[in-house]
Amino acid sequence: MRFSEIAPEQLAARDIRAVFADLDNTLEPYGAREPSGEALLWFERLRAEGVALAVVSNAGRKRVSTYCRDIPHAYKARKPNPGAILDMARRLGIEPRHVLFIGDQLRTDMRAARRAGVGFLRVDPVSPNLFHRLRYSIEKRFFTYEAG
Ligand SMILES: [Mg+2]
Repeated sequence: MRFSEIAPEQLAARDIRAVFADLDNTLEPYGAREPSGEALLWFERLRAEGVALAVVSNAGRKRVSTYCRDIPHAYKARKPNPGAILDMARRLGIEPRHVLFIGDQLRTDMRAARRAGVGFLRVDPVSPNLFHRLRYSIEKRFFTYEAG
């Protein structure tokens, strides 16, 4: 499923108090600089249910902090190392058993989640739409993106 198909009401009902999300290919296609309308709407639904949100990404500081702004975030997280997930749980004051990690990669995201003792849900990679693909192909000539 896509991240936006996860129902915040059901998370709250299952005692999930925070969602920690991978960024690239989970919430957005590679290189997106700001949340899509789809993402903003879903963030708002989480908020309405009292479910916290944080981003834990292996990408670099500039990429992650530009996207996240006031969303709590960790960059260069070194997943599958669980350290950044555990640090974020402490920072938000939420026990790992009340956290759900969502990500597109088993090798990094799922392993990190398992090691941190948080739940894990694999989501379908977000594939860029035609507009994004065109924009990226143009921008790629000028910028080098960090993958994560
Ligand atoms: Mg990813």
